[in-house]
Amino acid sequence: KIRLNDVVKTFDTFRAVHGVSLEIESGELVALLGPSGSGKTTILRMVAGLEYADHGHIYFGDEDATDIPVRDRGVGFVFQHYALFPHMTVAENIAFGMKVSKVKRTPEAIRDRVEELLALVQLSGLGERFPGQISGGQRQRVALARALAVDPRVLLLDEPFGALDANVRRDLRRWLRKIHDELGITTLFVTHDQEEALDLADRVVILDKGNIVQEGTPEEVCRAPQNAFVMKFLGDAN
Ligand code: ATP
Repeated sequence: KIRLNDVVKTFDTFRAVHGVSLEIESGELVALLGPSGSGKTTILRMVAGLEYADHGHIYFGDEDATDIPVRDRGVGFVFQHYALFPHMTVAENIAFGMKVSKVKRTPEAIRDRVEELLALVQLSGLGERFPGQISGGQRQRVALARALAVDPRVLLLDEPFGALDANVRRDLRRWLRKIHDELGITTLFVTHDQEEALDLADRVVILDKGNIVQEGTPEEVCRAPQNAFVMKFLGDAN
């Protein structure tokens, strides 16, 4: 379980995140949804340990995250423009995290794990291709396999399907949901796309200007938008 308690982040004089409190249960898939500049990425980066909160605390279980070094937090990332290493094959990209991890694995164990992950993301047989030789959707699946390779406790996804066209996004959504249900991994998903959040998440957290304006299941937020902002923002999806 991850808990944010009154987390504030200011850049110079600009307050990007205003006292956000939020709980993400183990195994839950939560979408942070909001327009550009609402603070979604900043929250994700603080959970990852790439930014520090000025005020408030983030807990992983009972432990204050500031006491956990980034590499020991057990987070896997996928970003919109998560460039795969272009000079490495798909298999080498997936293996990369395992090779630099402090958990030592034999070359055979790494090879077996890469095969397992390729099967999971339905790319068996494409391990020897280079990123330039597969589609954008396939590349994001490789990025996810790479993030999963080190058995993260938490998966952080920042607009992972942002650059792809609508049909591919829809397929990837369905596929991410399936993988999430298989692995049961705690997942925090950032998007500005209402349809994506409502379709994919167990729970949606709607942000506006660094504040949570509503949270609930997709049904709850659609049935009873709490204010004009949410109503307009969700309405824009239709
Ligand atoms: P987007 O979808 O456009 O990335 P977002 O909801 O993820 O939006 P953030 O990226 O978290 O929003 O940014 C929130 C605000 O904080 C923005 O106004 C942004 O300009 C500002 N901001 C983010 N990072 C920095 C930084 N390193 N220095 C200064 N301002 C920043």
